[in-house]
Amino acid sequence: MAAQTEESDCAREQTKAEQDVDQVRKRAARDQQRLDSGAVTSPKDLANLQHEIASLAKRQGDLEDVVLEVMERRESAQERVAELTERVASVQAKVDDATARRDAAFEEIDGEVASVTKEREVVAAAGPADLLKLYDKLREQQGGIGAAKLYQRTRQGCRQELAITELNEIRVAAPDTVVRCENCRRILVRTAESGL
Ligand SMILES: [Zn+2]
Repeated sequence: MAAQTEESDCAREQTKAEQDVDQVRKRAARDQQRLDSGAVTSPKDLANLQHEIASLAKRQGDLEDVVLEVMERRESAQERVAELTERVASVQAKVDDATARRDAAFEEIDGEVASVTKEREVVAAAGPADLLKLYDKLREQQGGIGAAKLYQRTRQGCRQELAITELNEIRVAAPDTVVRCENCRRILVRTAESGL
């Protein structure tokens, strides 16, 4: 935007400078016409007129230099605008691409959430209500994880290895006993890989 502003400022400056040149050029042409017409006869007036024509020519040259200088500045401003426009387009393309990938990921995640939610409903409905209540309470207290797998004598919830006394207690517990972690109180899920 700054480059575009500079470019349009230069354009305005150029128009103004060109108008200045035009004004001087017209005035010089008018003077020249008067001189050529022979209407001015007094030597003093003629000398004045010639002097004015000469100084107008000098002024026109100076003003034309100004026009050229402004045009050069405008040209580099235009180049800068073109370069930045290209960069904006390339960054925008990256943004568009990332947005599209994000939206696709959202869609995938939403689909996964929906199917996992449905799965959970089925699993939750199949178990005893009091166990589910305990699990939900623990889940709320323990950062979203109410039960943890016991894997190779290590509690996956709080990541602590079982002490030998605790291990022995779990070994003799009935299969339908709800085993709890003594450390974090989460439900411990026994599997074939529990190392019991
Ligand atoms: Zn624990």
